[in-house]
Amino acid sequence: MRPSPLLAEGVRLSLGVVNLALLEGTVTMSANIEALRVLHRIHIQLTDLRSRLDRGPIQLNAAAANVQRLKGCCEAAREALVRGKMVADEKQLHLQEREERIEKHQANLNKAATNKEYQAIQEQIAADNQANSVLGDEILEALEKIDELDAQVNAANADLSRGEQEEQRVQQTVREATPLLEADLARLTGELNETKAQLPEDFRSEFDRISAARGENALAPMEGETCGACYQTLNPQTVNKLLLDQPVFCPSCGCLLYLAEDRSVGAS
Ligand SMILES: [Zn+2]
Repeated sequence: MRPSPLLAEGVRLSLGVVNLALLEGTVTMSANIEALRVLHRIHIQLTDLRSRLDRGPIQLNAAAANVQRLKGCCEAAREALVRGKMVADEKQLHLQEREERIEKHQANLNKAATNKEYQAIQEQIAADNQANSVLGDEILEALEKIDELDAQVNAANADLSRGEQEEQRVQQTVREATPLLEADLARLTGELNETKAQLPEDFRSEFDRISAARGENALAPMEGETCGACYQTLNPQTVNKLLLDQPVFCPSCGCLLYLAEDRSVGAS
């Protein structure tokens, strides 16, 4: 076999130290590193739980905002319908007034004293009939518009009803999920504290300091000889310290490192 690279040299060296340390009873085999592995898993689960808990109020707000928007749509549709009906009513009133005027003119026709007067009244009747014909078309259009606006009101009401059902569904889902998520959160926080208590005092304070600042991103496994967070190759000194079960930070990204599942302290 070719002479191993620097790294393996370091590992061989570290193995000697570990064995010596074990003999002297100064190192608890992999206790710290194993704890860090568990802590990282718990941290990841806690982050997931918190994001699911945070999502509840966001979903509730979104559903409530949607219902408010749909209520606004209903209101606008109803107002448009009222305006449409007013327009049609006004036009119908005009039509009626003009028809009454035509009746009066027709009554006056018999009373006309002169031919000229008779002619003038007939012209007025013709003009009013013409105007009412146009108005009649406009009324038909206005009535069609009312049908359209009526359909829009119904559609808006149906949308609102669906929005309210959706809001109720979200409320129920969040109401059911929240206590379960909170129980999980409490359980995991307990596990976190128990596992942390297994760390030596100085190691624990390092862990607390960095996890307070970075959460789950405080920790990373060493994968091969690289940092599992930033994928930079770790120098032999860093690898050796890790194999010696000492707190080691990735020189590139500052993560607290631990050995991946298939690695153990004292073996590379
Ligand atoms: Zn790194």
